Formats: sequence, structure tokens, C-alpha cells
Amino acid sequence: MKAKQNTGGLDIFRLAAAFLVVAIHTSPLSSFSAEGDFFLTRVLARTAVPFFFMVTGQFVLSDSLFSGREGDGALFRQVKKLALLYGLSILLYLPVGIYAGHYQALTLSSALRMLLIDGTFYHLWYFPACITGLLLVWLLRRFLPLRAVAAAAGILYLIGLLGDSYYGLTVRIPVLSGAYDAAFQVFSYTRNGFFLAPVFLILGAVLGRRKNQGRPALSAVCLAVSLALMTAEAFLLRHFALQRHDSMYVFLVPAAYFLYRLLLSLGLRPWKAARPLSTGIYVLHPLMIVGVRGAAKLTGLTGLLVGNSLIHYAAVCGASLAASACLVLLTGWRKRPVFSCGRAWIELDRDALRHNVEVLRALLPQGSALMPAVKANAYGHGAVPVARELNRMGIRSFCVATVAEGRELRCGGVRGEILVLGYTHPRQFPLLRRYRLSQTVVDYAYALQLSRYGRRLRVHVGVDSGMHRLGERCEQVEKLARICRMKHLKVVGLFTHLCADDTHRPEDEAFTRRQLEAFYGVVRQLEERGIPRPRLHVLSSYGLLNGIQAPGQLVRVGIALYGMLSTQEDTQRCPVPLKPVLTLKARVAAVKTLHTGESAGYGRAFIAEGERRIAVLAIGYADGLPRSLSCGVGEVLIGGCRVPVAGRICMDQMTVDVTGVPDVQPGTEAVLIGRWGAEEITAGELAERTGTIANEILSRLGLRLERIVTGSSPVDGRK
Ligand SMILES: *Cc1c(COP(=O)(O)O)cnc(C)c1O
Repeated sequence: MKAKQNTGGLDIFRLAAAFLVVAIHTSPLSSFSAEGDFFLTRVLARTAVPFFFMVTGQFVLSDSLFSGREGDGALFRQVKKLALLYGLSILLYLPVGIYAGHYQALTLSSALRMLLIDGTFYHLWYFPACITGLLLVWLLRRFLPLRAVAAAAGILYLIGLLGDSYYGLTVRIPVLSGAYDAAFQVFSYTRNGFFLAPVFLILGAVLGRRKNQGRPALSAVCLAVSLALMTAEAFLLRHFALQRHDSMYVFLVPAAYFLYRLLLSLGLRPWKAARPLSTGIYVLHPLMIVGVRGAAKLTGLTGLLVGNSLIHYAAVCGASLAASACLVLLTGWRKRPVFSCGRAWIELDRDALRHNVEVLRALLPQGSALMPAVKANAYGHGAVPVARELNRMGIRSFCVATVAEGRELRCGGVRGEILVLGYTHPRQFPLLRRYRLSQTVVDYAYALQLSRYGRRLRVHVGVDSGMHRLGERCEQVEKLARICRMKHLKVVGLFTHLCADDTHRPEDEAFTRRQLEAFYGVVRQLEERGIPRPRLHVLSSYGLLNGIQAPGQLVRVGIALYGMLSTQEDTQRCPVPLKPVLTLKARVAAVKTLHTGESAGYGRAFIAEGERRIAVLAIGYADGLPRSLSCGVGEVLIGGCRVPVAGRICMDQMTVDVTGVPDVQPGTEAVLIGRWGAEEITAGELAERTGTIANEILSRLGLRLERIVTGSSPVDGRK
């Protein structure tokens, strides 16, 4: 679920950047003006490679930097890919390099330097630089906090500057001069993976995570100013002949930064074909330079095709684009098949979710916000897609049951507070900090353990007002006060949970009143002891919908958010209209006709009386469908009809009797939970048939089911 939808600007600029790199190697304006050419190729075009580093940073470094080791997979996959591409390019340019005499008098050390740092052909330095930069930043991040890594990258860039366009100053300081001379034995330039790449990789990773890139106009102005300053810088350095090389400038950093922000803020849709095309142009253009020269010689057009720098540039660009396009077509690059409704899957209705959020928000007391319970994989719906949608609707707090659930949300890019409602083992306390999770204090003894960890933890203190599950007992005000004063605990919430708020029976209502009195009594007594009041939360779905008066800043809604209550009856009586978010579907794998007396499935539990048509569905109890729905207890919807489960549900498949339903074929969809025309099977109905509540049916839906979000496109939340 990492799909970024605003990357079209980056995709377009990839092509532009590739053509800028071609310009560096062909000097398009050299026939006309030396200054003009310097500006184009040594100033403007110098944004191209940093831009490519930033793109890499955004898409492959970001998770490693921000989400810890779980994000490393993308990074190492990219390193592998770059190494492969580099290897192929080395082979491709081997003949040209040999012809040009590149590899004569090669020693082992110069060969290694060429291979690992400088690149085996002039433009190929980019690949080892990108690999080195990625690995270097990854390594630093393993030992240092993000800020320190960024600072290190900045320092490396400065060191690089002094060996690049500011080298003329460096040589005047003997110590530095000696150091750089020694360094240039190891690498030919400082524009490499150690000094140039890290800062841009990190900038890309940071910028790519920002939700709001600001207004394009502002970025454009800042970009123009940065480019103007960079131009002035470059011409000054050139005037005083200080440059050893001209890849790195001070103002290249802000220029690349604002360029990138501008491209992201345009909000253009992705244009994926630009990606392999630009890579192709980058890799192939030196070959095309050779090709154009050869063609010019053969046709006797050297004066025009090579002599005129602009025509030469255009010819090389055209040939590179054409060659790249051919290669892309030949290698069969196309969209990866991401068909995710193959076997059995869950469709999440974004509009229903938004509707429920709005309906529930309207019930909130003034100053209160929703803190959705997305535990148990968001009641089986899929925690990351649900929480991300909720983020878009402006929701900033979530509850989960376990640390692992919290980590999953963070790694999935969910923002805001995440409260772990359940027990966390002390050995997992570091994870609370790493994933910025808040922990529930389950009682006084646990608070001591949390505090003994010795590093600051954000906590919500649970108060047991009568449920006798988690929370310190409400009578123990002194202990609760001590928890609030513990050195390493940052108490940001105080809450209790009601256990009889789902009925209107007088004795239950009286019990709830006693729970509320106990909780608010604790709140008052803590305040009397001078403890500042943290955020309070008491209500969950039933409490909110039953109109229980319990002032607080957060409401922990779960089941209602998903569009129902625990039982059919409660859902029908619900005072506000909720819409189910989840639809569970499976495909027909096979259809067959059974003759009288033939059986289907394990234990021969279904026996055909007369000719029956049986459809095999690609879903079973391992997907969370209760096995107790076997043998006609459960029904499914096919072709808008309700059909009974035939025989026993298996682990991965089940059979249904579709006799009389037209057009049932392999591939046909069946609805197990959800609506089809006028018919609807709810999770509540399955719960009723199997003697449980909808919460259990939903939360057991398996991880093997694919989850897709449907409905109108996302709109940003206003609240
Ligand atoms: C699960 C849970 C909730 C959400 O309950 P619903 O009845 O689904 O709204 C709220 N608070 C706590 C402590 C929970 O464990």
C-alpha cells in the first residue's frame, strides 16, 4: 500500500533529467556560446543526477530510514537491481571501452577503483555511486538517529565540495591539499557515492513522506532563486578558475530540494512508462553518440550532424529515445499484473466507511474525537488500508491490541497516535519507542515495570471501574496517583471500559452508572492531588450509540465504524443508519452435476437427491469462514440467489448447491458476506447461525484473503 498518487511530476522530469545528462555529454550550445553551454551543462544539468538520487531515496530508502529494519527489504532489492543493471551496462560498453583504449595498463587497484567508484565507462559512475550511497546511509542509520545521519550526509557533501568545484581553495591550505591528494589516489572525483549521493538520497526520502508539499508557485519561486544563486556561484568559481570538477555546488542542494517539492506539489498522476524509458536513455546515450558519429561519417553529413552542436544533441537524444523505446518494447516491460481478486477476497467500501465516520462524529460530545479500534486487523477488514483511509478522513488516534499491530500500522505509513490496549512484555518495550506507540498501563505493578525500563514512554492509564479485566482498581487512588507521577511515564490518557453498556436492562444501566461514578471519582481525586488531567476516554460503540453521558476527549469506536453492531437485533435497532464496510467474495473454481445418490465432500455429508448442480468455491475455514456453517446451516449469494452450503466446508474450499441458478461457471463470483441485488448476508447473520457475535466472525477473517478498497476516490479530511 505504498502507492503514491502524485508522482507524475517526477516521472515527467525523469525524461527531462535523462536529456539533461545527454546534454552534459554532448555540449549542445558549444557551437554558439561557451557561456551558454556552461550554464546549460555545468549548472542547469547538474540538477539531473541529484534528482535521480532523490527519487531513489523516496522510493527505496524511506522505509529503512523511518520504519527500522522492516523497511530494509526495498533497499536491498534496489541495490541488487542497480548491480544487475550496472553489470549489463559494463558488458555493453566493454567493446567501446576497449576500442577507446580505456582499459590499457590496468592494474588491480585501478580496475577496482573503476569498477567500484568511478564506473567502467564515463557515465556509468552513477550506478556504483547509488549503491554506495544507499549502503552508506543504511549503515549509518543502524547506529545513529536520523538527524545525525542527515548531519553526516551534509558534512560528507561539504568534504565533496572541497574536492570538486571549490578545490581551488582547498589546494591553498597545505594540510587539506595533502589529504585530498591522497584521497584522489583512491577515487578520481569526490562526486561519488560517498560525498554526493547521501545528502540527496536522504532529502528524497524525507520529502517523499511529506503529505503536504506546499503550493507549487512558492516552490517555483524558491527554485528560481536557488538556480539563480547556483548560477552566480558557478560563474564566480569558473571566473576564478577554482573548479577541479563541476558537479557539486552549495546551491545545488536547495535547487534540487525545491525542484523536487515543485514536482511533487503538481499532484500529477504517475506515468510509469517514463521510468524504464529514462533509464534506457541514460544507459544507452553514449552508445548513440558513437552511433551518430558513425552514421554521419557514412552519409557524409559530419559537418551538419557533428559540427552543429545543437543538431548533434538533437540527433543523439532522438536516437537514444528510439533505442530506449525499442529496448523497453523488446524486453516486454509492462505494468506488473496486480490482479488481486483471484480466489477469495475482501472489498472495503470507502464510501461506507466515510459515511460511518460522519454519522458517529455527529454523535460525539463537543471537544471529543474518534479513536477507532483497528485491533485484530481492523476487525478482519485489513488494518493498514482501513487506518490509512481513516487518516485521510482526518482521524489522528487509533487503538490496537498488540505491539505487532502497532508496528504494522507504522510500517504501513499510518500517522497519529497508536495506543496498545493490551499487555506488552518488557522485552518489547524498545518497540514502543521505535514505532512511537503509546502503551496501556494495565495495573500498578505493570506501571513499575514500565518505569523501570528507564526511558520515557507515552502511556494511557487504565482504570478498572468494574469490568475486572485490565486497569488498576478504581479504589486504589493512591496507586493511580503514584503511577501518574512515575519518572519515566508520560501519562497522556486515563481511561476505563464499560462492560454492560450494550443493553437497556435497568440493572445493567445501574451498573454502568456505578462504573462512571467510580471513574470520574478517580479523575476528581487525582486532580485534587494536583495531577494534571490527561485526555479521558470511556465510550466504545455501544456507549456512544446508547447515548451514555461520559465526557472525554476520545471515543474508542470499533464495531460501529465497520457498519454494524454485534448482533443482528442490535444493528436493526441502531438509532443511526450504519453501512457495512466489508464484502467477502470468492470465485467458483468448478461446477459439476451430481446424479442421484452421489455425494460431495468429506464424510459424504451431502448426498444428491435427484440431479444437483454443485459449485466449488475457492474459500474455506482457513479463510475464517466458520466450519459450523456446513451442511445447509450457511448460505451464499450467487447470481443474486441465496444457495445453501452443500456438505462440509473444507480448509480451502467449500461446495454450494446451485441447482436452478443460471450462468454459474468457473470464475463466477459468489458473495459470502455482503449484498447482491436485493439479497444480503450480513456478518451478523452468520454470527446468529453459528452462535457468536459479528465481531468474532469478522476478526477471524484470514490473512490469506486479499483486501481491496473500492468506492469513490479519497478526499482529504476536513476535521
Ligand atoms: C475493542 C475495544 C474497544 C472497541 O469496542 P467496540 O465495541 O468494537 O466499539 C474499545 N475499548 C477497548 C478497551 C477495547 O478493547
